[in-house]
Amino acid sequence: MKSEKPENQMRVSFPSRSINESLARSLTAAFVALSDPTVDELCDIRTAVSEAVTNAIVHGYRDAMGQVYIAAALYPGGRLVITVRDKGCGIPDVKKAMEPLFTTCTTGERAGLGFAVMEELMDKVRVRSRVGEGTTVILERTLKPRE
Ligand code: ATP
Ligand code: MG
Repeated sequence: MKSEKPENQMRVSFPSRSINESLARSLTAAFVALSDPTVDELCDIRTAVSEAVTNAIVHGYRDAMGQVYIAAALYPGGRLVITVRDKGCGIPDVKKAMEPLFTTCTTGERAGLGFAVMEELMDKVRVRSRVGEGTTVILERTLKPRE
């Protein structure tokens, strides 16, 4: 499984400006659209990637500026693996951060539901993070075979 070769791949990076949240959504949608997904699949994946990218921008880099990296790969059988990475502040307790309603935002602007949304919309969500080094979110979803 691990050594399986992707049928298609995309790597992009951009600075952590909030305007680039929509760029990330569009690029991901364009990549996924090549695999003939349903409207629901496309929408789910776009939303999940958008949550991860927003987190990189607002939490990972906070008031600073840095690069956000997206890697998308399509494997045989319609398995999509999308990685969103930042080299920002990192997450001290990933398990806790992923609990629904947990947020470090104190202004009331954020609900603490980003990870819950990602887990709801994707088949698998994995998070690797190191304080001071950054965070990698790996999102997986297998597209349903089309008739
Ligand atoms: P919402 O997504 O509902 O607007 P939120 O971003 O606070 O709120 P989650 O997306 O579930 O909620 O993230 C939970 C917490 O995990 C964040 O408040 C933040 O502390 C931490 N976190 C998430 N992603 C990162 C990241 N890339 N770098 C650093 N911390 C992060
Ligand atoms: Mg969030």
